Amino acid sequence: MSDDHRVYSYTATLMGSPILLKLFSNNEALASRVFRLIKQYEDLLTVNRAPSQVMDINHAAGKHPVSVSRPVYELIRVAKAASLLENSAFNLAIGPLVKRWKIGFQGDSVPPADEIAALLAITDPVDVMLDDAANSVFLTQPGMEIDLGAIAKGYIADRVRDYLRKEGETLALINLGGNIQTLGAPEGGWSLGIKTPFGGADELIGTLNVENKSVVTSGTYERFFERDGKRYHHILNPRTGYPLDNELDSVTIISTNSIDGDIWTTLIYGMGVEKGCAALRARPDIEAVFVTKSKEVVVSSMQHFRFTLLDNRYRLTG
Ligand code: FAD
Ligand code: MG
Ligand code: MG
Repeated sequence: MSDDHRVYSYTATLMGSPILLKLFSNNEALASRVFRLIKQYEDLLTVNRAPSQVMDINHAAGKHPVSVSRPVYELIRVAKAASLLENSAFNLAIGPLVKRWKIGFQGDSVPPADEIAALLAITDPVDVMLDDAANSVFLTQPGMEIDLGAIAKGYIADRVRDYLRKEGETLALINLGGNIQTLGAPEGGWSLGIKTPFGGADELIGTLNVENKSVVTSGTYERFFERDGKRYHHILNPRTGYPLDNELDSVTIISTNSIDGDIWTTLIYGMGVEKGCAALRARPDIEAVFVTKSKEVVVSSMQHFRFTLLDNRYRLTG
């Protein structure tokens, strides 16, 4: 590459995740503004520390509606709609269970079955009441909690892309710890690695080649704990309250908007390979790469990317 195509990488830790921004000019000031933008969204949306607008909603559960800023309201509206899809594995009201399991945080433990049953009773997305006119959200049951952990990174990745575009950039990449969004592409496209589940830090199962696309990976190998020989990962089944149990080790979604990638990784986790591929037939704009426990890599379709298998312990099908 010639000098003017040099890649400049900027890193930060935000949302408990390693953040990577790639630019094609040395622009520390722009990188700082991007990190500040991400931090502003984190401050609005986090449920890991007060205050935030989402925490304000949660604290008022069972008491009163809370008016929030337009972007927060819109994100909650989209998250509720995804939660109400038929048989959806996505549930924005999963908060009390996430808080109790603490998977990926200090103090994780397997809750007793009766506690899980009690918490399930306060996770119905129908009990998240929205008022478009007031931009307000009311959790009707005491103890309810919204958790946007399965959608917020995707939403923020899209906002970063929009911001970079507005600033006149034509070539950039943002990685919010598993949520990648790209603007344009260098010659030959972006080559993005997909990690081998439970492999070493640099071990790649393969590479994805994309332009102008979002690539979101969700896996059971990043945030989990083991107790009595059993592994508990962080994507919970909203119907049982336990981690989703299926044939998948990870799923990667390729889409234009990262918010769709984030939502669909969770939806697909609930469907598994077969139902997932069937559901995606109706959505040609959204494509998936499944990695199964039996070491298969299944591709739902390959219209908007190329995949190259690197790990010969896996077989590519689909
Ligand atoms: P995804 O698969 O996209 O989402 C899984 C996450 O969504 C779970 O961790 C849980 O939070 C939630 N979830 C679980 N089951 C479901 C379900 N069925 N439906 C819907 N949601 C579900 N991590 C830290 O360690 N420290 C922090 O301070 C911190 N702050 C954060 C602040 C913000 C604003 C955000 C968005 C994330 C933050 N995180 C933090 C990370 C967060 O806790 C999640 O682990 C992370 O968002 C998971 O992203 P993912 O893409 O890996 O997983
Ligand atoms: Mg997600
Ligand atoms: Mg995610």
